[in-house]
Amino acid sequence: MDLKDKNVLVIGAGISGFAAAKTAAELGARVTLTDAKDKNAIHAEDTDWQAMEQAGIRLALGGQTVDLLENLDLIIPSPAVPVRIPFLQEAIKRGIPVISEVELAASLAKSPIFAITGTNGKTTTTTLLGLLMKEKYGDSARVGGNIGYPLVYAAQEAGVSGAIIAEISSYQMETTKHFHPHIAAVLNLTPDHIKRHGSMQVYQEMKERIFAEQTAEDFLVLNMDDDAVREMKARAKGRVLYFSRKTELEEGAYLVDGVLTIRWQGVVHPLLRTLEMGIVGGHNVENALAAALMAFLAGVAPEAIARVLRSFRGVAHRIEFVRERGGVRWYNDSKATNTDSAIKALESFDGHIVLIAGGDDKGTDLTEFMKLVREKVDDLILVGDAALRFHTAAADAGFPEEHIFETAYSMKTAVDVAARHAAPPQTVLLSPACASFDMFDGFEERGDVFKRLVTELGDA
Ligand code: ADP
Repeated sequence: MDLKDKNVLVIGAGISGFAAAKTAAELGARVTLTDAKDKNAIHAEDTDWQAMEQAGIRLALGGQTVDLLENLDLIIPSPAVPVRIPFLQEAIKRGIPVISEVELAASLAKSPIFAITGTNGKTTTTTLLGLLMKEKYGDSARVGGNIGYPLVYAAQEAGVSGAIIAEISSYQMETTKHFHPHIAAVLNLTPDHIKRHGSMQVYQEMKERIFAEQTAEDFLVLNMDDDAVREMKARAKGRVLYFSRKTELEEGAYLVDGVLTIRWQGVVHPLLRTLEMGIVGGHNVENALAAALMAFLAGVAPEAIARVLRSFRGVAHRIEFVRERGGVRWYNDSKATNTDSAIKALESFDGHIVLIAGGDDKGTDLTEFMKLVREKVDDLILVGDAALRFHTAAADAGFPEEHIFETAYSMKTAVDVAARHAAPPQTVLLSPACASFDMFDGFEERGDVFKRLVTELGDA
């Protein structure tokens, strides 16, 4: 993309916006960065003001007025900025091109792109694919996108003979037209972000943009077990391969007798048993099958795929294995800030769970969650604002009172209580089903504190 001497406006002073602004400036553009917030309201850690100043980027903070549109050649809105806002609609009416940071990245990419989208599992699958691709491309396999690291950086770092591994969200696709991954995957599709996109149909359309520019030389990896995703084949331009946890496939990746397997051109490649995997749960089997199939198609050897799947322990705070202590395994699922995620975590284990839950209560209905708690959990340890309501809901669901412990606002007490009670074959799981802000700065801090406390426990 030739941006030399062009007037570029970047909207949103976050990780993605800053990266887009910096990259456009490096390409010779005159860049203005605007944000609805003023400087004090913008998260300092997201934005490096000094670097921006050094790059010659002009700031227009505290809102956008239409005079910013004068003489503009290009607008790059951050994923958080909906295309429907009047300012962008006005820009489009005036014929000013509006592109996402993803599209800018794609235009700069000189290596093939491997992109993953879906409602759930994106970060896990993308991280795993990044590790798998390192087996072939070494350090030139670069991961970026919706994962907290800008795709424009990853695309440039991959150079001319690397691989660009991209996590793609529906938000990023609103202003993306030219994006052409050599291998793309759609993991699953359930209603989400409807408020932003206006309807489920638009949400699905955004997801499908990941493969809209593919050609017959490309691959599209789809989830056979998800009706909406399976049917995307009808609109595919590239060659479609499926993965399935439920059905043995003629071609693709599947689970048979507990073994993750790839069949390709009539040859069967058994990879490893689910029990050998470093990540747990049926949903992670799906993530692993998708990543393994993409890596296989990209030329990573089956033995290398199996090796990486054995050692990958998941992304931090998502059912992340912490340690084994006296035969009891401890997991950190601090990212489970709602009951849906916590349910996924509970379903990932065969039962015998000592569960630490609670935190900043979102007030959602607890019926489903507590039904599963009664089935799978032996001891329930409750922290934070939500403790009382969770306690009552558990008791109402028939969970035995004598196995409920409230430890107020102390994660340390919660960990100590868990350590005292847990014995094989039990598993200790932090999966709060709540936000963390009553006790922490975010789910990352909560998970980090938990991991530190668990690591500091003496041997059993
Ligand atoms: P995303 O990046 O799409 O939010 P993550 O990999 O961060 O996904 O996982 C977030 C949560 O979503 C996990 O803790 C788990 O509860 C759930 N999850 C992960 N993978 C899947 C999947 N394949 N299907 C359904 N739910 C999943």
